[in-house]
Amino acid sequence: MYCGEAIGLIMSAFSFMMGACIASFLNVVIWRVPRGESIVSPPSHCPKCGAEIRWWQNLPILSWLALRGKCAKCRAPISPRYIIVETIGGVLFLAAFWRFGEFAPFMWVWLSLMIAGSFIDFGHQLLPDFVTVGGMVYGVVLSLASWLVAPYLRVPTLPLYPGLQPFAVPPLNSLVGLAFGFSLLWLVRYLGTKAFKREAMGMGDVFLMGAVGALFGPVAVLMTLVLSSLFGSIVGIALVLAAKAKIGKFVAIPYGPYICLGCLAWMFWGPELVAWYVSLVK
Ligand SMILES: [Zn+2]
Repeated sequence: MYCGEAIGLIMSAFSFMMGACIASFLNVVIWRVPRGESIVSPPSHCPKCGAEIRWWQNLPILSWLALRGKCAKCRAPISPRYIIVETIGGVLFLAAFWRFGEFAPFMWVWLSLMIAGSFIDFGHQLLPDFVTVGGMVYGVVLSLASWLVAPYLRVPTLPLYPGLQPFAVPPLNSLVGLAFGFSLLWLVRYLGTKAFKREAMGMGDVFLMGAVGALFGPVAVLMTLVLSSLFGSIVGIALVLAAKAKIGKFVAIPYGPYICLGCLAWMFWGPELVAWYVSLVK
C-alpha cells in the first residue's frame, strides 16, 4: 500500500468517526433545543428512570448496538433516532471528505446544521434560528473569508463548477444567492398562503433557502427548489397511499428536510446535475 493511500484511509476513518461523534452531540441538540432545555447541563440521562448515561454507554453507534437500543438500568427502549442520526453524521462527513478534501471541515459545519434542523423540523414542525439564520451568516462569512485568503492559500474559490466542486462561492454569488433564495421562497410562501388560505410554509423554510443561496449561490437555489419539490412530492404521495389519508385533508409535512435533501444533492452532484440538465435542453 502506498503512503498516500494509507493517509487517505486514516483520514476517511477519522472523518466518519468525527461525523458520528458530532452527530451524537446533535442528538442532544435535537432533543433539548425545541424543549427549551440547556444543551450542556444536566448530563445525558435516561428519560424514563433518570439514570445518568456514562461515557462508555454514550459511544456513537457502538453503544446503541451494544445495549440493543435499551437503557442499561431500566431497559426502557432508546429511540432508534440516536443510531440513525449518528450513522447519517458519519456517512455525510465521510462523503464530504471525499468530495471536498482538506476543505471538508467547512462543509461539516453546514452538514451539522442541516442534520439538526431536519430532525427538529420532523419532530416539531419548526426550524430553529441557529440553523436558518446561522446558515445565512455562515454562508456569507465563509465566502468572504475564503475570498480573502484565496490568493495566499490557492484555495479553490472557483467561479462555478468546472469539474472540481468549490467549497465556497465568491462573495457576489453568495449575496445574490441569499437574496434570490430568500425572495424566491418568500414568493412561494406568499402565493401558497393565498391559494390555500392558510400558512403554506413557515418563515423558517424561507430563511433556510436563503442559507442555501448564501452558501452555494443562485444556481444551487433553483436546483434545490426543483429537487426538494420532487422529493417532497414522492414522499407525500407515498404517505397518502400508505395511510390512505383522504386527499384534500391537510397533512402537515415539514418542508425543511426536503430543502436539506435537495441541498445535499447539490453539494455532492451539483456539477453533474447541471451538465445533465444542459444536455436535456440542448
Ligand atoms: Zn433507564
